Amino acid sequence: MHEVDMTKCLLLSMNQWKQQHAPVIPTVQRVHLQVGAFTCVEPDQLVFTWGVAVQDSWLAGAQLVIESLPLVGRCLQCNGTYAPSSAAAYRSPCCDQPLEEIVSGRELRIRSVDYTLATTTAPPATLSAQAHASAPDPAQPLPYPASPTTSLAAAHAA
Ligand SMILES: [Zn+2]
Repeated sequence: MHEVDMTKCLLLSMNQWKQQHAPVIPTVQRVHLQVGAFTCVEPDQLVFTWGVAVQDSWLAGAQLVIESLPLVGRCLQCNGTYAPSSAAAYRSPCCDQPLEEIVSGRELRIRSVDYTLATTTAPPATLSAQAHASAPDPAQPLPYPASPTTSLAAAHAA
């Protein structure tokens, strides 16, 4: 199936991309993909096959976001661009020329990846640090060092 092959290619690309960050494994939230209208890829189908393919991999939970790019042809007669339609047999509406040059519409590329880089231990550490910082408590511990020392001194004196 077309979309299955596309997904395999995407996974290959993503695995190569992952190697760039080794040994850290990036946590991917979203993969932004540009898909031309002339690639005959069904976006919904691609999102589905992607979801199945990544569910047990390091990309589990990564969302595939597809941006469709329209088919744009160039008219060889007047050099203008136009949106070819199958109803017009892809001929240019300006000069009635056959479609010979496709400017855009055959893309299938990863435009960007939303991800975070962290080791497996780092996220909990930063989380707890943030939780401590945002809590109102840090102001209160200040008086405490004073009382334990005084009680300690009192214990010594006694
Ligand atoms: Zn033309």
